[in-house]
Amino acid sequence: MRDVLPGEIIVIGEDGLSSIKTHCGGRSSICIFEYIYFARPDSVIEGTSVHMARVQSGRILAETAAVDADIVIGVPDSGLDAALGYSQESGIPYGIGFIKNKYIGRSFIQPSQIQRDNSVKIKLNVIKETVAGKRVIMIDDSIVRGTTCARIVRLLREAGAKEVHVRISSPPFVHSCYFGTDIDSEDRLIAHNCRNTEEIADYIGADSLAYMPAPSLGQLLNKSGLGFCDGCFTGNYPVDVSHAVYKNKFDSKIHEN
Ligand code: SF4
Repeated sequence: MRDVLPGEIIVIGEDGLSSIKTHCGGRSSICIFEYIYFARPDSVIEGTSVHMARVQSGRILAETAAVDADIVIGVPDSGLDAALGYSQESGIPYGIGFIKNKYIGRSFIQPSQIQRDNSVKIKLNVIKETVAGKRVIMIDDSIVRGTTCARIVRLLREAGAKEVHVRISSPPFVHSCYFGTDIDSEDRLIAHNCRNTEEIADYIGADSLAYMPAPSLGQLLNKSGLGFCDGCFTGNYPVDVSHAVYKNKFDSKIHEN
């Protein structure tokens, strides 16, 4: 019927629906990573289509990080829409490079490194015919530790890709999230560990690497009037986090107690 407003409480009681808006009207900052990764592409959040936001991120990458190539492919799921946008903007053909095993969860949210490694091995199959002998642009939504991305680049090389240019539809993760997203502690984020883009490209085995520029994030959203949080990318959090603990630490504190 409509989106629940930030801070609003919807009560479903014997008398039907009622709304408590006492906490509404303050500054609101929606998580920008919802549009890049979390939300389903057919969602519309605060008037912005998630699919269109991702297509737009691909268009921005094509403008800001152009490279000569034969084909653009996306890493399922979130990278697919961005790859389409990159293809539309650059004129480089869009191809299906990966087929995903639908019965495996997202590697980003697997709790341990071993589980993440195993899930990458069995969750993506490369369509060799799409990439063999080609200069490939591969679009993914983010790089956290770099290990998953390195494995995916290796899969493309093994399938015969001549060049692999990685484009990421979010800026580098350099800070933790204090609001519940299961991003690792800062010291495990590859971009936080003083590595520049060329060093990260080397680590993941890519011929080149470029990220979505953080100042362009606002271009993903329609003008809904809501602000957005991009704290894990910029360090500018919507609230003071100087006394906060990020989620992993919070979890370990719970286990300690
Ligand atoms: S810090 Fe990052 S993941 Fe956390 S709410 Fe903000 S944008 Fe989303």
